[in-house]
Amino acid sequence: MSQDSPPVRRLADWDHDRLGRLAADHGTPLYVVDLDRVAANYDRFASAFPDAHVMYAAKAHTGRAVLEKLLETGADIECAAAGELHRAVQAGADPDTLQYTAVNPPDADLDYAVELAEENPGLTITGGARDTFDRLEERGYDGRVAIRINPGIGTGHHEKVATGKDAKFGIPYDQVPQLAADIADRFDLVGIHAHAGSGVLHADLDDHCRAIGKVADMGRTVETDVTPLDFVDFGGGFGVPYREDEEPLDMAVVGEKVREAVGDLDAQVKLEPGRYVVADAELILTEVNTIKKAPAATVVGVDASLATLIRPAMFGSYHPIRNISAPERDAESVSVGGPCCTSADVFCTDRPIARPEREELLAIGNAGAYGYELANQFHSQPRPAEVAIEGGETRVVRDRETLADVTRMER
Ligand SMILES: *Cc1c(COP(=O)(O)O)cnc(C)c1O
Repeated sequence: MSQDSPPVRRLADWDHDRLGRLAADHGTPLYVVDLDRVAANYDRFASAFPDAHVMYAAKAHTGRAVLEKLLETGADIECAAAGELHRAVQAGADPDTLQYTAVNPPDADLDYAVELAEENPGLTITGGARDTFDRLEERGYDGRVAIRINPGIGTGHHEKVATGKDAKFGIPYDQVPQLAADIADRFDLVGIHAHAGSGVLHADLDDHCRAIGKVADMGRTVETDVTPLDFVDFGGGFGVPYREDEEPLDMAVVGEKVREAVGDLDAQVKLEPGRYVVADAELILTEVNTIKKAPAATVVGVDASLATLIRPAMFGSYHPIRNISAPERDAESVSVGGPCCTSADVFCTDRPIARPEREELLAIGNAGAYGYELANQFHSQPRPAEVAIEGGETRVVRDRETLADVTRMER
């Protein structure tokens, strides 16, 4: 059933009456996450790759309710920090199924992972630098490892713009065979891993598949020259449409193209979608508190801010915004911003929105990935509550912080 879920959920598709009741009951700003949609997104993705092992890359949304739902749906979890391992275990993940991708891992994170692996030898630690493997060995670790490789093709960037930024992730491609031979003597080398690209839609899919092809080639090289592998992991990077006129990925096409790019491989194919699973399953409700007609713009002031959703300020990201109190009203071009004293605290400028009035509710869409996860307390704002919808019921899954929470850690 959930396999037939629509490939994208737009703001207009949410039940506006229910959202209005949630805001009345729990206040604003408010995160609303639809756990059934999270599960449906995972199922749709996994169905496109029937022979692959699909993990959820947790960093986009590590909320306990989301992790629990995905575990229940059959997902395993990929973690990129000790705190994420901790959350996954708390949510009920079997530590033997976890995969930990270590990127410049702090000592405390490696200590945590090694300790967890002592009791749970199924856990896999992925390293993207020789130092990481040396530091694991220093800790007496000789268990399951994977090598993160840098395929040298970052999707969304172009091959010729090889930025130093990308060098942060993974072992340079040509150094992999030698490192693999070395690692195989010291650990149980079970996999090759790469995660190149982010927000890939159809326009970038061919580039992404070229990177996947290179990773698969390396998998075959290591299998032939060094050791058989349990898996080759192609990471995530699959995008969702943020703009109303963008088309969602056709997962049947994606599945076909990825399979073609991978080719024959003895090892199990793994994939790790993050954003794809959670992005459109959550929105933020925010109340309009100010309408100001300035010569340059009509300014709509709301109670959400860059502390609630930082992506527009941090990445210039577009997020859909809808007046859910009066969606049919004539549209007016407005800018929407929050209570923070910085010009970065603006969700949109010159955006046609059904003309908002004071005390009406706006929904900001696609907040499931890096929404709450990057929320902060700038301007000493308590973080909002998060409410989950599941099977027709709603429940609070994270309480609204109070002013006492804002000062809690201070001495
Ligand atoms: C972030 C991340 C992912 C998921 O990326 P998405 O673009 O959210 O699909 C997968 N694997 C690793 C190692 C990551 O760091």
